[in-house]
Amino acid sequence: MNSIKELKEQLGYEEIGLDDTFTFHCTQCGKCCIHREDILLSPKDLFNIAKKFQITPEDALEQYCETYIGCNSRFPIVRLRPQGSVKRCPLLKDQKCLVHDVKPTVCAMFPIGRYLSLPTDSDFPESPDEMSVGYIFNNPECGDEAETHTVRNWFRDFNIPLKDDYFFTWTKTQATLCKHLHFLEEHLPEKTMISIWNAILITLYLNYDITEDFLTQFQKNSDAILSLIKTLRNVDISMSKNS
Ligand code: SF4
Ligand code: SF4
Repeated sequence: MNSIKELKEQLGYEEIGLDDTFTFHCTQCGKCCIHREDILLSPKDLFNIAKKFQITPEDALEQYCETYIGCNSRFPIVRLRPQGSVKRCPLLKDQKCLVHDVKPTVCAMFPIGRYLSLPTDSDFPESPDEMSVGYIFNNPECGDEAETHTVRNWFRDFNIPLKDDYFFTWTKTQATLCKHLHFLEEHLPEKTMISIWNAILITLYLNYDITEDFLTQFQKNSDAILSLIKTLRNVDISMSKNS
């Protein structure tokens, strides 16, 4: 089996440290915004887009996104809906990003990616301090080499915090829900699973007032859906035992 290091190498990713430098300057040609089917949004990305256009997250989802259940994760995924034969991002207009100042995190970080290193064979830690964040440089083979950056400065310029409590909580919520969803899908009929997936989508992505603070609302929504799914799982277990 390939190690994570070998896999990253095969995909052309290089590990990069926070204060390591990379050379990249985006010439705003817009090519990375077409032929794209992989611009996944987190609840915060959808909230930011809704706030930018002064519409509800539900309207933003309807106008710009589509949803599906992740093949392996079995988790509801939201992505920007590609348009036309060139699969253009719906937020690209006249080669400009309509949400440039609040662009989705994957777009803002590009060509840098980040991941959380999970301790092996244990539940997701309670505190972000128990985990380490790793960074990768995905050589974009575009733009020019007019600028040199460190990862630290790149994140600062795009207002992405290095100690990102939201990134930790969102990853933890997803990981915990995925574990329960795999179990529930083995025990519940498809109709019930569709109701559960809808409840997750509505609670985590749509249940926001764009005039209020995002993080406070996200934490509340995350707690509510985790509590509901854990209750459902316990009910399911006890029903299985009694059957
Ligand atoms: S959100 Fe903006 S930067 Fe991201 S793919 Fe769409 S147009 Fe491009
Ligand atoms: S990141 Fe690269 S492909 Fe995308 S707009 Fe900038 S130069 Fe063009």
